[in-house]
Amino acid sequence: MTNYITDEIQNNAINALGRMIAQPSYNTDAAPNAPFGTGIRLALDEILKIAKELGYQTYVDPEGYYGYAEIGSGDEIFGLVCHVDVVPAGDLAAWNTNPFELVQKDGALFGRGTQDDKGPTIATMFTLKALLDQGMTFNKKVRFIFGTDEEILWRGMAKYNEKEAGIDMGIAPDAEFPLVYAEKGLQQSYLVGPGSSEIELDLVNAFNAVPGSATYNGSKQDQVETALQVHNFKYQKSADGLIVQGNSVHAMNAPEGTNALLRLGIALADVFPGVAALEFIKSFGEDATGANLMGVIKDDASGQLTFNISSLQINAQESRMQIDMRIPVTVEHDALIQLVEEKVTPFNFKYENFDYLEPLYVPKDGTLVQTLMKAYIKVTGDTAAEPGISGGATFARTMKNSVAFGAMLTTTPDFMHQANEHWPVKDMRMAMEIYAEAFKALLVD
Ligand SMILES: [Zn+2]
Repeated sequence: MTNYITDEIQNNAINALGRMIAQPSYNTDAAPNAPFGTGIRLALDEILKIAKELGYQTYVDPEGYYGYAEIGSGDEIFGLVCHVDVVPAGDLAAWNTNPFELVQKDGALFGRGTQDDKGPTIATMFTLKALLDQGMTFNKKVRFIFGTDEEILWRGMAKYNEKEAGIDMGIAPDAEFPLVYAEKGLQQSYLVGPGSSEIELDLVNAFNAVPGSATYNGSKQDQVETALQVHNFKYQKSADGLIVQGNSVHAMNAPEGTNALLRLGIALADVFPGVAALEFIKSFGEDATGANLMGVIKDDASGQLTFNISSLQINAQESRMQIDMRIPVTVEHDALIQLVEEKVTPFNFKYENFDYLEPLYVPKDGTLVQTLMKAYIKVTGDTAAEPGISGGATFARTMKNSVAFGAMLTTTPDFMHQANEHWPVKDMRMAMEIYAEAFKALLVD
């Protein structure tokens, strides 16, 4: 392992991280020049203050959508795309520490944002500065871009791209090592079709999760129970009705889960024949790759399409389903949407867009990926490491020629978005050494 990072550098970084964790920067109501709430705005101001103290030039969008800090000169810009917002603490009783106070215990740094993404943001900023202090000169300008709405709708980065210059290459330190060079396109949409007076359902879950349970509390519970038995679907009887059981996973891994909502829909289709939404679900089946609907859609670079149906609402006026598709990187988006529209038309359904994120794809034999992989392997000794693909989404896809690189090691326990989020101190140190090696390789002649 190389040794660019001293205890002093790491301790300074940890102190700065404490200042960031102390800002409860989750999304709240908009305030003047704080479109995502004052907590996020204060975190944005704090990271810029820290950057300034380190010697970076800083800029803040007057409306509070984003900020950046840069250092060095050159025609090209190397970008680090980070975010200062966090998800809320969730159930406080599940935490052993105050989520908005950095607590160092058991060899780890505890607090909301230590892994996602305040820890990695601070780690990369302090690493880069350490290299300059050690006398290196960079051949590119380096810009840290601080987004503010990563956990919701990415409106901060949309503003950045509207108003500011792009970068020439970059990383998002907001995932896992070694690196992600392909992130599937992400399409969330609604299918809207005819209502029914025979059955009423109001089952709504998050777009990005495979429903782990689905409850039927209508009047035909006996018949529905028989249908569930015929299909061999697991369920429980309770005072609330029949609860169909599945296995919830993230929508990007939908084929690995069991969608309870689809199982209920398939059983209901036997009991309520001719209801458009149920006929659709019956024909869609349990295949979360959408293959029954559209045939197999996949590519070599990023694998198969995933297609998650996470809500089912039926009333007398209309029926409505939420879908989340993770689209292979080389599949043409417009053509795919056309195909979906064509395939739902026979069921009298219409397609409605909700949100689309373009894919990320940086060829893995190119300089950026090769250089970053070499740095990772040099520090960790993990010679078998391969760059990966993901159905998840990082800010890397908002910038050209950018990949997700760290900061979690493959052995770091994943506590992102969970209670007791923490980052082991030694993992942080190794991540900083990997970044140091990578920055040196990318930025020094
Ligand atoms: Zn993040």
